Amino acid sequence: MPVEMLDTTIAGSLPKPAWLAAPRTLWAPWRLEGASLEEGKRDAVRLALRDQEEAGIDIVTDGEQTRRHFVWGFVERLEGVDFSKMVTIGIRADRYKADVPTVTAPLRRQGPIHRDEVRYLRSQTRQRIKFTMPGPMTIADTIHDAHYGSRARLGMALAALLNEEAGELAALGVDVIQLDEPAFNVYMDEVRDWGIDALNRAVDGLPWRTVVHICYGYGIKANTDWKKTLGGEWRQYEQTFPLLAASHIGGVSLECANARVPMSLISLLGGKDVLVGAVDVASDRVETPEEVAAVIREAMKHVKPSQIFPCTNCGMVPLDRELARAKLRALGAGAALVRREL
Ligand code: ZN
Repeated sequence: MPVEMLDTTIAGSLPKPAWLAAPRTLWAPWRLEGASLEEGKRDAVRLALRDQEEAGIDIVTDGEQTRRHFVWGFVERLEGVDFSKMVTIGIRADRYKADVPTVTAPLRRQGPIHRDEVRYLRSQTRQRIKFTMPGPMTIADTIHDAHYGSRARLGMALAALLNEEAGELAALGVDVIQLDEPAFNVYMDEVRDWGIDALNRAVDGLPWRTVVHICYGYGIKANTDWKKTLGGEWRQYEQTFPLLAASHIGGVSLECANARVPMSLISLLGGKDVLVGAVDVASDRVETPEEVAAVIREAMKHVKPSQIFPCTNCGMVPLDRELARAKLRALGAGAALVRREL
């Protein structure tokens, strides 16, 4: 597959088919079970791939069709996490409540976590593939700790396990590994104190492209309400980007479409790849290709095109399925418009 300028990709998730899980719902329970559930997940992955390929997306994901929530895919299969001890906590600085499991013992992988999913994904497409896992700080923020006693210690333990897992996925043909860290836009002091160390630990020695996704969250009400409190200009990234520029991460996925993030902040990333969010996931309006192109052109004022990857602002799992498909097509078409100008 030739590497082009402005290769497109998506943040990660896509809506699930209604026969697999309730639409437009985060943490939606499965509608199938047992062998039917496993078959249903695989069928959903094939549809997610087909939708991305038809839209001209260059680096595709499994649409996170096989996990109930982006954090659970990894956590569900860790030893030391007790899912019978669910606790309701406020996550992302109490922006919303979530029922989360409890860490009761030292965390360990019981074995490969995502191996089978990656093998299947690799077998179903000839495109380059990206695989997403939650970042250490975001997992630490979405779990109840009754063992480690500090978020930093818990986060570093998680980072070591993510690194083990990611290293094994390298051999299976993953082109890009992405760690999702929405918590990086919430706990800026912790990012400085241990978040970057944990990220470096998670990607230590990985032989291929790594990305961290830092966003303002899914397009759900709790997030859009929160964004209204952030003022006319969102400068959260300004504190974090210089730290990321000095880190070992290969690139950063961020929110740009309809965001009050000054685009000039991406110049603080110091030569990292930039996954420019050019599709808004908090709006039911489908972008025109020209609108997508305008965001990309704006990013090109600050970062050279070979390091820009047009992307979605965040995951699209809570969106209507047809709407997400239309947004994918706008993303592919918008990037193609700009490519033709180069
Ligand atoms: Zn996101």
